[in-house]
Amino acid sequence: MKIGVLALQGDFREHLQALAAIGVEGVPVRLPADLRDVSGLILPGGESTTMRRLIDRWQLRQPILDLASRGAPVFGTCAGMIVLAREIAGEEPILPLLDIRVERNAFGRQLDSFEGELQIPVLGDQAVHGVFIRAPIVEKAGPAVDVLGRLDDGRIIAVRERNILATAFHPELAGETRFHRLVATMASEHDDPGEGSGRRHHPLRRASQPR
Ligand code: GLN
Repeated sequence: MKIGVLALQGDFREHLQALAAIGVEGVPVRLPADLRDVSGLILPGGESTTMRRLIDRWQLRQPILDLASRGAPVFGTCAGMIVLAREIAGEEPILPLLDIRVERNAFGRQLDSFEGELQIPVLGDQAVHGVFIRAPIVEKAGPAVDVLGRLDDGRIIAVRERNILATAFHPELAGETRFHRLVATMASEHDDPGEGSGRRHHPLRRASQPR
């Protein structure tokens, strides 16, 4: 099983390292062809305006939307969360896969960057060390969105809607691999849905794999 990491810009190397640390093969994705045999995709932190431009330049928009619509997990961190948001305050959406509204750089000057211990119950009891760098905040989440974590003041910083997962912070910069494990688990379930899951293997994707 391979997990792609969008490698146009931003901290994709750290995501590739996090995947290596849990024994999962990570594939840098720069062109649509790189998506061909990945079972999931990670959108790194960085600069969402630059990512928007490069996603368009390399014609990655539709192939990523297709991958997500087949049920493969897609995980965005920080700028990656912005890329996935259905609404970005004051801007057009990029890959509107997640029913959230985000505001970029939402923490203002004093809190431009900060770190904190977060409770993310789906990952277990041990706190997650959250690294926030000019992070977005989730202003609104639709009814189908599971809120996975909040700041002490109640603001949402981690969400999941079916196969789409996003955090406003950077687990990949904190040696935190539990989100990557979750993505790998979701990806292997997507590859091999259990008996009775009602989901069939995608005929085109299977057929296109070399034997
Ligand atoms: N501020 C960046 C943006 O708006 C995100 C920062 C990050 O990914 N650390 O795209």
